Amino acid sequence: MTKLTVTFLGTSSAAPTRERGLPAIAVQREGEVVLLDCGEGAQRAFLAKRIGLNREMSVLVTHLHGDHVIGLLGLLQTMSMAQRTRALTIVGPSRLKEWIERTQALLQFGLSFRVEFLPARPGTVVRTRGFVVKAARAKHSVEAFAYMICEKPRPGVFFPDKAAALGVPEGELWSRLQRGRPVKVGERVVAPSDVMGPARRGRRVGYSGDTRPSASLARFFAGCDILIFDSTFKRGDREKALERKHSTCTEAAEVAKAASVHALALTHFSARYAGVASLVREARRVFPDTFAARDGMTVEVPQPDS
Ligand SMILES: [Zn+2]
Repeated sequence: MTKLTVTFLGTSSAAPTRERGLPAIAVQREGEVVLLDCGEGAQRAFLAKRIGLNREMSVLVTHLHGDHVIGLLGLLQTMSMAQRTRALTIVGPSRLKEWIERTQALLQFGLSFRVEFLPARPGTVVRTRGFVVKAARAKHSVEAFAYMICEKPRPGVFFPDKAAALGVPEGELWSRLQRGRPVKVGERVVAPSDVMGPARRGRRVGYSGDTRPSASLARFFAGCDILIFDSTFKRGDREKALERKHSTCTEAAEVAKAASVHALALTHFSARYAGVASLVREARRVFPDTFAARDGMTVEVPQPDS
């Protein structure tokens, strides 16, 4: 079974703490990495988690606030020093390109690899080997986007008895059918649909970035397997959440409930809290399948039908 994992590299909000770095999350599948935001220090977390610097990779930036983006320059520079050769895709608000290029010019550093910038906008923003990535508008103090990383559909279930009944010998011809290609047995052509069930949906990881909760985000995240949501504040600090355009743990749980997600990961905790156990408790009253992300934590996303 192909593993799909989410590794939290930084789970604090605007300022780091001793335990928590600035926002960055790596979604990994079959060697491919999708990095969600790139706060300062993300590159050290890459080293700690042994995520190679020449991996097939896309970076999705939610918005242009320092805590979500300042780490990108360092990561690019270190990748270049490590002689990265693969092109890197970066998706984000349109001025991200300008910020990177201006800083590059000012600090006079070139890159050993090509960067493809794609402006974020609602809808499908990029298709990679393993994923289709969609974006929606978030509600923050600057232009901001939420992302949904959708694994491409998996082939349907293979029925060996059907293949055998059609005279297809076990071995190479079976695996060819499982890869979605027709095979010839004598004069007869056997199609994958003759021996396999319908394609199964892939797994989905949703990420809110910084945002107020909204019904449109709940619709956007409907049915996702893991929803990673802004949980900057406790329930009792809702006034601050309103003022700074963030969410409380309870509001994150309300979105998870409305969206019928499989599990909710709270992240982006304000540095004012010494611990986050009470935020998890408050959220679980609304949505029981809630956990708090912490730096270095990796969770595996289960298959929807397992
Ligand atoms: Zn932030």
